[in-house]
Amino acid sequence: MRLLKSISQSISIICLLLFLASCVDSSKSEMTQVMLQGKTMGTTFSVKFYATEQQLLTEQFYNDIDELLETVNDQMSTYRHDSEISRFNSHATDEPFVVSTDTAYVVKKAIEIGVSTQGALDITVGPLVNLWGFGPSGKVVQVPTDEELVLAKDFIGLDKILVKGRSLIKTQDQLYIDLSAIAKGFAVDKIAEYLDDKSISRYLVEVGGEMRATGKKLDGSNWRVAIEKPASHDRGIQQIISLIDKGIATSGDYRNYFEQDGTRFSHTIDPVTAKPITHKLASVTVIHDSAMMADGFATAINVLGTEKGLAFAEKNNLAIYLVIKSPQGFEVKYSKAFSPYLN
Ligand code: ADP
Ligand code: MG
Repeated sequence: MRLLKSISQSISIICLLLFLASCVDSSKSEMTQVMLQGKTMGTTFSVKFYATEQQLLTEQFYNDIDELLETVNDQMSTYRHDSEISRFNSHATDEPFVVSTDTAYVVKKAIEIGVSTQGALDITVGPLVNLWGFGPSGKVVQVPTDEELVLAKDFIGLDKILVKGRSLIKTQDQLYIDLSAIAKGFAVDKIAEYLDDKSISRYLVEVGGEMRATGKKLDGSNWRVAIEKPASHDRGIQQIISLIDKGIATSGDYRNYFEQDGTRFSHTIDPVTAKPITHKLASVTVIHDSAMMADGFATAINVLGTEKGLAFAEKNNLAIYLVIKSPQGFEVKYSKAFSPYLN
């Protein structure tokens, strides 16, 4: 499901409004299916929903969603030097730094996920992400040295950041936050909330593979989404999921990685080793009410690995689906809470 993780780039919406008139029964006869597509955060987004002719005449769905995604970028993208998070990152003092309610909320929720997973999700891991060439400054020619990693580790840790209301406070001047593991999911939730506000009750929203569905399609069938086979060169389907009123996110090492001397380096960093994860987990899919939480947990479970990830999911009743590399090909494991989605 993944593409680039950059919370970057200006949004250029390329294609929109594909109208497909649907006349299923009298109560739905005025409904039109709308599909909006575009680019954001270094990846693509798509929004499918049903609206009345009247709503399409009076609402500016395309412009509003464009603006909303632009705002999330301005708040949370480390790829924009003047975003709120970038300005906080270069604010080298423990003086409180006021951000928007949304940024403070995402940082707070990311810290909560981080604490509950014993630091597997760690938004202070940014300096390591950058050293390994997965940040805004782009790819690196050489993998970082142990000395560089040890130095960077001094700036990392969830104990070095505090959220008080709308203020972010760093207790280490070089602290650098990277919200890439969670911001796409948050953008999905923002679009979903926007559609809820507009009384749109059937939709499927997707940003860079993270999704959220509400209601059913007009013909009464469920929104169906695919978990991809976690292979870099094969866009095959691993599993189809019927999604009702939930968010879904996948984290994997099969899209964003580099190879050096036969070793694959994933864009997911284990904060304990300061290095890309090396276990046999190929992809992690999480279903949660909130796409943001699904996104954050998917990255966290990816760091934890199969055994610890499954133990965490069972303890917390979290719906997770794991694809694991084995000599015989891909093996699948999932938590109890995920089984209802496989029918
Ligand atoms: P995607 O969904 O695009 O595959 P993820 O949601 O898993 O990506 O987020 C990966 C991104 O999160 C990385 O590119 C990096 O910027 C950041 N990151 C990497 N490791 C961690 C970590 N342990 N905790 C928090 N963020 C991380
Ligand atoms: Mg994630």
